[in-house]
Amino acid sequence: MSSRVLVLNSGSSSVKYRLFDGAGTLAKGLVERIGEAGGDATDHRAALQRIMAETDLSGLVAVGHRVVHGGAEFAEPTVVDDVVAARIEALIPLAPLHNPAALSGIEVARKLLPDVSQVAVFDTAFHATIPADGVTWAIDAGLAERWQIRRYGFHGTSHAYVSRRTAELLGKDPAETNVITLHLGNGASACAVRGGRSVATSMGMSPQGGLVMGTRSGDIDPTVVFHLHRVAGMSLDEIETSLTRRAGLQGLTGENDLRAVLDRRAAGDPAATLAFDVYCRRIREYVGAYLAVLGRTDAIVFTAGVGENAPLVRATALAGLESLGIAVDPDRNARRDQIISPDGSPIAVCVVPTDEELEIARQALATTQPR
Ligand code: ADP
Repeated sequence: MSSRVLVLNSGSSSVKYRLFDGAGTLAKGLVERIGEAGGDATDHRAALQRIMAETDLSGLVAVGHRVVHGGAEFAEPTVVDDVVAARIEALIPLAPLHNPAALSGIEVARKLLPDVSQVAVFDTAFHATIPADGVTWAIDAGLAERWQIRRYGFHGTSHAYVSRRTAELLGKDPAETNVITLHLGNGASACAVRGGRSVATSMGMSPQGGLVMGTRSGDIDPTVVFHLHRVAGMSLDEIETSLTRRAGLQGLTGENDLRAVLDRRAAGDPAATLAFDVYCRRIREYVGAYLAVLGRTDAIVFTAGVGENAPLVRATALAGLESLGIAVDPDRNARRDQIISPDGSPIAVCVVPTDEELEIARQALATTQPR
């Protein structure tokens, strides 16, 4: 039986795609600047038509769609029919910047590839196993219920993939392995995974909370928002733009790319030095919290652009934790080994490249095949 799966990651102005079969990636690409003058396509329909023209989609068994927000409803990848599409649409208020594009991608693919199962794979779904005390904020319970305010968590496909790969790397059964995963890309989140199930994560109702990111603030006191509105006279839209696009590394240094921050820090720039320290300290605070959540911890794993490529972040975030059983071997860290802790460390420190598209393909395939 064919195991060909097309993975689509539809953003508001771009569609990333990758075609897999059992052996690996057959094709991949990016349709950009959708709807712009001189862009690759006029709309999502034209974008998918272009992908279909460029790529041999014969024998396709499923299309896996990345959907950022699955709300409290979707704990599993789900084959999309009219009812499911309407439920995803109803979640748009929770993810107004992300879900509409995914929905366009799904609707177009359903029309253009009507005989192929369309599977929605949600960034939130992996975190459905976090217990109630880990997703509930101590605010007016009636308001929270009525407006669906709670922690959902994101980057789920990455945390799922990387935690499983880490168990394999350590030669352990994923069901018996406890891991703290640190996904540090443009967006960044931490996750505590107990026996393959998420039990805590740093992002909240949106991908804004938790760790310091390229352009997002991560955790702040909500009073910052009231203060900027009342005292600084900013509108809610201006505040949102500031905290999501002009915060994080960008806000502290004017650069959203950690490479530029590292270069400036190396040259002695004080703003870059502070930004780096804030960035690493926040990671360390979450690691400490998640060690306490997990109790026994087998590994701490770094992934995504920063996690995979910035030895200095890994070494700094975990420096001085030998008494907790955590150490980073400088040579292994610099060599980019997969296990960067010394042999015999109580808690392994690992670097495991993430592959969200592969995980989406795997989940889409598993969802369409009889179990
Ligand atoms: P996304 O979240 O968009 O998928 P990535 O996981 O690719 O992003 O991470 C991108 C970020 O990784 C860049 O903004 C950059 O800060 C960081 N990065 C990539 N390479 C390096 C490197 N060699 N050293 C430090 N940071 C890096």
